[in-house]
Parts: sequence; structure tokens; C-alpha cells
Amino acid sequence: MNNALFRFRRPENEHSMSYAPGCPERALLREAIKQIESETAEIPLVIGGEEVYTGDTGRVVMPHDHAHTLAVYHKAGAKEMERAIKAATAAHERWAATPWTERAAISLKIAELVDKKYRYLLNAATMLGQSKTVWQAEIEAASETIDYFRFTVHCMDELYGDQPASEEGVINSLEYRPLEGFVYAVTPFNFTAIAANLPMAPVIMGNTVVWKPATTSLLSSWYLMKIFMEAGVPAGVLNFMPGPGSVGSRVVLNHKELAGIHFTGSTQVFNSLWRGVAENLNKYVSYPRLVGETGGKDFLVMHASADAKAVAAALMRGAFEYQGQKCSATSRAYIPASRWDELNAELGAMLAETRTGDPRDFRNFVCAVIDEASFDNCMDYINYAKNSPDAEILYGGAGDKNVGYFVQPTVIKTTDPHFRSMEEEIFGPILTVYVYDDARWTETLRLCDETSPYGLTGSVFAADRAAIEEAKSLLRYAAGNFYINDKTTAASVGLQPFGGSRASGTNDKAGTRLNLSRWVSPRTIKENLLPPRDFKYPYMMED
Ligand code: NAD
Repeated sequence: MNNALFRFRRPENEHSMSYAPGCPERALLREAIKQIESETAEIPLVIGGEEVYTGDTGRVVMPHDHAHTLAVYHKAGAKEMERAIKAATAAHERWAATPWTERAAISLKIAELVDKKYRYLLNAATMLGQSKTVWQAEIEAASETIDYFRFTVHCMDELYGDQPASEEGVINSLEYRPLEGFVYAVTPFNFTAIAANLPMAPVIMGNTVVWKPATTSLLSSWYLMKIFMEAGVPAGVLNFMPGPGSVGSRVVLNHKELAGIHFTGSTQVFNSLWRGVAENLNKYVSYPRLVGETGGKDFLVMHASADAKAVAAALMRGAFEYQGQKCSATSRAYIPASRWDELNAELGAMLAETRTGDPRDFRNFVCAVIDEASFDNCMDYINYAKNSPDAEILYGGAGDKNVGYFVQPTVIKTTDPHFRSMEEEIFGPILTVYVYDDARWTETLRLCDETSPYGLTGSVFAADRAAIEEAKSLLRYAAGNFYINDKTTAASVGLQPFGGSRASGTNDKAGTRLNLSRWVSPRTIKENLLPPRDFKYPYMMED
């Protein structure tokens, strides 16, 4: 047994590669794209370390070229979910007893594999399967994933090191036990890094997991699963279960060993899981930990003192990168009337330079939305705006789903601050702008705070410090990630811990000690070195 006292210091954040013309990584990535395009992967379930082919299959396609099948995947049914829960439960005792340094080594190995061996394949799978530009893939599928696995080890070190004091004659300690049972991880389509972190954060903390990946991002999820196995995650510790969420959840929610849910996705699905837990509460061994990061209706508020060009650039990146399919995407903006013409001209000029299309053409800034349902949803909002007397479409407003699910980056201007697209999450490349009277700055901050049920990200642009202070104060609960003179997206692990409250989730800040603490159930241990042998206290003596 290795008795070294390990310390895992704070890592550096991963530096993203540029992929500029002439860089070696550009050629390597193109090779990986070619490899993935030329194959049709077959994606099984993985239960107890075994690949399982159910024969009930679905297709994974390129959203920007939906006739192209990237993979055929096998779907888990109720029977397979039962088997996965059994495998996770059987693996629990051994994995929970595995020294933490072994778990740390697996986490660090995953980071190395993504960094040095699979970077281009994982980026290419994310570009083709989820329709991301090379930059959008690099910053998250590679860099953020690497950061999660390195920071988790450092945070685990900090958490385990948090121990109570011991007094003379007594040794006190906290044992950070993994949860008693299995964790259900349900991941969204939009970030490969989230698909990596949600199942693996509980695993690294000594839990066993049943993972239900999103079917629209299965190619990158499958690459991740193979990387986890190569890094040494033992059989049964992580079970990979593609398929319809509702089928899997019915089985999982009914199971007494359910110890936690690690979810990212829509508020509606998280609410249904929470309700399912509440309805089955009497069945569980312990109260399941519910950790969910959900939707957003993220805002940018411009003050009259702000730099219009910087605001326009923040709107372009915040609203349209990855087609607005980030929980943190800017989807509503408040612009002072005195600066509207200038801002509008900047925004118009930037949009005129924007290309929409296939991510394999590196000149594109906007690619396809994830699937037909998302395309139709975006067009519904656009058509609603077109037909409303309270709104006009300033830019974009068209879509085409013949080859891929392309929606033009669209800007709606409304005279109603409670217009539907100012309040509801759309999850597409659609930004709604409301122009306010400069004299109503404070009222506009209040309006922004009260307009939507979410509280995820938001930003204020101003040069005036008093305006920044006021915005910070009045918008205190409007965003869990608040930006000053910056866009609402692209939080980095360890630098801007991510998550929001209200209808945006439980705000456990993925990639931090706060999140890891949800996957342990601490046991306090007190050892008395010389226990008293008399029950009486001094006060009981005769005077
Ligand atoms: P979604 O809710 O449709 O799906 C998320 C996952 O839940 C998928 O794996 C899906 O198959 C599964 N699912 C669907 N119905 C289910 C059910 N009844 N039981 C169990 N699982 C079920 O979300 P999405 O479209 O994949 O992702 C977009 C949403 O995710 C947006 O609302 C976005 O804001 C949110 N999101 C939030 C964060 C955050 O950190 N707050 C990050 C990324 C995405």
C-alpha cells in the first residue's frame, strides 16, 4: 500500500489551439474529420464492461447534412436499464474502497488521453455530430473536458483535506463516503465537456453510475466512453445507456438504490425527474441528491456610457456562436435609445460579414441547429415575430432544412419588453432587442430582473462605475454568472465556476468542490484515546 501523502495542486487551464491556416493542428483535424466521415460507427450500450447490441436501433446524422449517417446506435429498453442498475450496484463496494489516488490517476489519464491522443477525433466528432465550428469544438470538447478532469482531482484533494480539528485525547475525522447506491447521469447534446463531466464527477468521487447520453450527440459521447474505459474505469462503474430518456427514467426512479441524479438539460425534464423522485420518496434508501443545471434566458444590458462596438461583438458571439444553443447564450438585450442607431449599425456590419453553413468549411461562424424539432421551434418563434405588431425582424428571419437544419442568425426588435421571445428560452440563433429610454435605466434593470423565470447568465456593458455598481446590485439574483463588459458565454473551469439559480438549476457549480461535495456522504469519526471510566461530572461533588 502506497502511504505517500499526495497533494494535487491547482492545475493550469488548458490553452486552446488556434487552427489558423498553416498551423499543424489544422491538418491533423482535417484528417480526423475525413476518418469520421468515411465511417459509420456502430454504438452499443456498455453494461458491466460488456458491449450490448439490442437490435433496436436509431441513426446519428450530421445536423448540417442530415442525409449523412455518422453512426447507428442501439437503444436501451427497460430490461437493459435494470441490468445496468444491477451492474452499477454490484461494482459499488469495490470501487468505493478503491484508494482515492487510483481514482485521481484515472481522471488525470483521461485528461492526458484527450489532450494528446484523441484531441482531433473528439473535436471532429463534436463538429460533425453536433455541428460545431472548429473553435467551438476546441474550446469545449478538448479544452473544457481536459480542465474538468484536472480540476476535479485538485478539488477532490481540497475536499478530502477539509477535516475537523482534533483536541487533546481525541482524534476527529471526516470520511467522505461515496453515496450509498448508484448515480443517474443524464447529459444534454450541446457540450461534449458536460457529457464527460456529469457521469465522471460522481465516478471520480467513488460512485458507480448509469449514464444516459443525449441521442443527438451520441458520436462524441461514444468516443468519451471509449476513452474512459481506456483510462481504466473498471467494468460496472460506468454504464453507457443510449435510448429514450423517459423509458430509462421510469426504471431508475423506481429503484431503491437511486442515490443521486446529475442532470443538465431543459428545466422541464429536470422538473419531471424531481417530481418522479418526490413521488417515490418512500422507496429510497437515502434522500437522492438532485443536481441539475437547466435552461436560461440570458441578458445583456447596455448602459449609455458603453462602447457600442464591444457590445455588438459581445452580442454576435454571445447570441450566435454555436447557433445560440448554449444555456448561456445571450437571447435578450436592452439598448439605450440614445445609442441604438450606432449599435444597430455595428451589429448590421458584423452580421453582413457572417457566414452560415457546414462546419467543415472553416470560414463559417454559424452552423446548423441540432435537429428538425429545433429547426421548427426556431422558425415558429421567427414567424410569430413576423406576424406580430409588436415586433420586427431586423436581420435574418429565414431558414432552410433541405440539406441541413440551417436558421439564419436573426435579430428581432420589439416594443414590448414582455414579448414572447424576451421571456422564453428558444435555444437557437435568435436575439431579441428592446430599446429603452435612457432616463429609465434603473427601471430597465428591474424589468430585466423580473422578465424571465431563469437566473443563469447576464452581462452589463458600461464605462460608468456607478451604473456597473447599480446593475450588480439590482441584478444580484438574475444571474449565477454575471459579466461586466464581457459576453454571457464561455465560462472556464476553475476561473468562472458555472451555474445559476431560479429556474436555471440547483447552482452547484460544475467542476468545483461545491459540486463534488454533492457526491459524497460524509461520516464523522471520533476516537477517544482514553475514555473516562466514571460517569459522574465534577459539579456533582459535595461542596
Ligand atoms: P433536454 O432536456 O431535451 O435533454 C437533456 C437530456 O435529458 C437528454 O439526454 C434527453 O434524452 C434526456 N431526457 C429527455 N426526456 C427525458 C425524460 N423524460 N427523462 C429522463 N431524461 C430525459 O435538453 P437538451 O435539448 O439536450 O439541452 C438543451 C437544454 O439544456 C437547454 O434548456 C439548455 O439551457 C440546457 N443546458 C443547461 C446548461 C447549464 O449549465 N445550465 C448547460 C447546457 C445545457
